Amino acid sequence: MTDWKNPPKLFIPGPVHVLPEVLQQLARPTLGHRGKEYSQLQKETVSMLKQILSTEQNVFLVSSSASGIWEASIRNCVKKDETVLCTMCGAFSDKWASVAKSCGRQVDEMKVDWGKPTTTELIDKALSAKKYAAVTLVYNETSTGLTNPVYEISEMMKKKYPDVLVFVDAVSGMVGLPMHFDQLGWDVVFASVQKAFAIPPGFTVAAVSNRALEKSKSVPERGYYFDFQSFAKSAEKDQTPTTPAVPHIMALHYQCTRLLAEGMENVWARHKKMGEFVRSWAKEHFDVFCEEKYASNTLTTVKNTRNIEVGAVIKSLQEKHNTIFGNGYGKLKNETFRIAHMGDITLDDLKQLLGWIEEEIK
Ligand SMILES: *Cc1c(COP(=O)(O)O)cnc(C)c1O
Repeated sequence: MTDWKNPPKLFIPGPVHVLPEVLQQLARPTLGHRGKEYSQLQKETVSMLKQILSTEQNVFLVSSSASGIWEASIRNCVKKDETVLCTMCGAFSDKWASVAKSCGRQVDEMKVDWGKPTTTELIDKALSAKKYAAVTLVYNETSTGLTNPVYEISEMMKKKYPDVLVFVDAVSGMVGLPMHFDQLGWDVVFASVQKAFAIPPGFTVAAVSNRALEKSKSVPERGYYFDFQSFAKSAEKDQTPTTPAVPHIMALHYQCTRLLAEGMENVWARHKKMGEFVRSWAKEHFDVFCEEKYASNTLTTVKNTRNIEVGAVIKSLQEKHNTIFGNGYGKLKNETFRIAHMGDITLDDLKQLLGWIEEEIK
């Protein structure tokens, strides 16, 4: 059982390690969410997030995990007689396609093998063949440890298909990887906070373009909890439609302040350094699961080339060092293992972790 006075250090790709001072933010006395002090908290938090995401459009604070916005993007911005192109390259992007179907929308699936990226050429080919209302895209596929070439894809889409909406799951990418929302021409992007924001789970940040918001007005049956229109209306008063997870917003305010003090370019460079370090270790002792050109800087999915007992090594590190890293996701459970290097995890933390893994596999 977990000793709560001495909790395990997490290197799983969500939830990730959380600093004690961030945990303290969640323990602050709560605020009434219709009062001035709350509104000030929301206003400052949203304003910092707009800087972090490089957007002058809409940023919503959502009290749910990120999966809620898989559904929200579809229900708010795609009509029942329209088709959405769901690109699929791993467990999370695959799931989004099934969520879109569960919302009763027409879905065309575009699959690549796990470990391969969703390319600009493939999307171009699909969009040139048929009319789509929107495309779903995962920035960083957390099962395969792969970053899709989203900047290149976005440039192509802005030039050739400016009317097609772009929805991006950036759950394990946001703040760890570069993001310029307005310049990319995206319509919805979102991330839950237990990944690179390094906050305990249960809360999500979403940016929504003005045109997506405008479109949602014409989409019937958007539902209640995730209705973009009601989020926008409440945002005018620096509020949320329903009672928000105020402690999470306090922690988010704290983390945004730290991120901006460091500077986003520096934050991204720090993640790149950690990514390079873990990849070079992985190549020395095992291999990197995905095509290396697309390997992620927020987590590494290591190919288990030595056929180690992943579960046994995880258990041993937990017992000896009170530290947990991730097994493979879904069908990759034993074929790979995963190491998160995002948020407040440091290079020194990673050196120690990888040293301990080496001792186990000697
Ligand atoms: C973790 C993750 C999700 C799921 O997020 P929840 O906060 O658990 O709903 C979705 N997409 C990606 C890429 C993820 O890494």
